[in-house]
Amino acid sequence: MRRAVIVGAGVAGLATALRLGRDGWDTVVVERAPARRTGGYVVNLLGPGYDAAERLGLLPALAAHALGPFTTVLVHADGRAKLTVPAALAEAALGERTVSVFRGDLESTLYEAVRDHTDLRFGTTVTAAGEGPDVLLSDGTTLTADLLVGADGVHSATRPAVFGDGHRVDLPYVVAAFPVAHASPERSATTFIGPGRTAALIDLGPGRSCAFFAYRCETPLEALCRGPVEALGAAFGDLGGGIPDALRHLGRDPGGAYFDTVSQVVLPRWSSGRTVLLGDAAWCVTVFAGHGAGLALAGADRLGTALREHGTDVTAALAQWETGLRPAVVRRQAQARRGMLQYAPPTRFHVWLGDLMVRAVTLPGVRGLVRRAAART
Ligand SMILES: Cc1cc2nc3c(=O)[nH]c(=O)nc-3n(C[C@H](O)[C@H](O)[C@H](O)COP(=O)(O)OP(=O)(O)OC[C@H]3O[C@@H](n4cnc5c(N)ncnc54)[C@H](O)[C@@H]3O)c2cc1C
Repeated sequence: MRRAVIVGAGVAGLATALRLGRDGWDTVVVERAPARRTGGYVVNLLGPGYDAAERLGLLPALAAHALGPFTTVLVHADGRAKLTVPAALAEAALGERTVSVFRGDLESTLYEAVRDHTDLRFGTTVTAAGEGPDVLLSDGTTLTADLLVGADGVHSATRPAVFGDGHRVDLPYVVAAFPVAHASPERSATTFIGPGRTAALIDLGPGRSCAFFAYRCETPLEALCRGPVEALGAAFGDLGGGIPDALRHLGRDPGGAYFDTVSQVVLPRWSSGRTVLLGDAAWCVTVFAGHGAGLALAGADRLGTALREHGTDVTAALAQWETGLRPAVVRRQAQARRGMLQYAPPTRFHVWLGDLMVRAVTLPGVRGLVRRAAART
């Protein structure tokens, strides 16, 4: 039986274990964290990500976690409503083949699908993997592997070990997401977009509410050092509405927040010998593009297909896999650069232009155009 050692139990790693396990691979997943992560932020799966979720058989379980449509209210800095996009409009724009879930629920769904078929080791990582087939783990085990999959995220340790340093492009932005208390009687997303920043509160009921912050920051590493409470307080402390409550909530559990710089990963190749990178470790497109989780699912699914087609010729399988997937990644990375204007518009004029586009979506004639454009991307 062929064996794959997979580094990282995020969306990419678990999906790879699921897909390869179905084709009879023996899979070992090592995860540095001591236990599974929960919560997180809202992830939309559409296009190739949705198709891959369907092929991986995840849709019925994901349906149980689906967040469903919700109203979006754009607000002024003091929290007053500026304009409202009804839930039905957002739903129509995204189309039918889409599902929105919390990232933690996507990972749980993958975990449940894979847990009985893979050797999943928490609190463990790879300590050495050379040209030969042996992989040394931090729990002292040495495994013989036909494939080593680095699915260890944007801050991957596998990537520099195999390809050297310098493939992560840090962008001048900081992003945070964390759970907040359910407060609004209505299922809604309240979003403030101002020059250089976005703050959103998504309130879909108890245990289903989170805050999202993104802002332009010339010294993002310094912001990380200050920590989310201080950094977000400085960047968003002037806002009204539900933001002060959200920041107070953060203060009670800052460790539970996702808080990171925004980085893309750009590599000329995603594999070397029998080591392959997959997901954010290989091609992080950033939150500004969305689609990172979708690409991780699609990447895992297509990797399985390529390996099945090429039998024991792993090199040929990896080459074919990369050729097929790279155009979608390049497109999403370009989309991320446009997304920055949306999440952190450079000027008030750009904010006004964004509002205008949202208003346009509410017009019946434009709605169909938007849906068709979303289907094409
Ligand atoms: C706010 C936000 C919103 C987003 N919205 C969307 C969206 O709407 N749609 C979408 O498709 N995508 C979205 N994304 C992107 C998506 O969440 C990511 O692209 C995706 O989760 C990446 O999965 P991954 O498994 O590659 O990496 P990760 O989720 O980072 O997982 C990597 C795993 O590897 C582990 N690890 C790290 N280093 C090691 C090591 N040395 N040894 C062992 N284990 C290790 C980590 O602990 C982690 O569990 C969003 C991202 C953010 C931040």
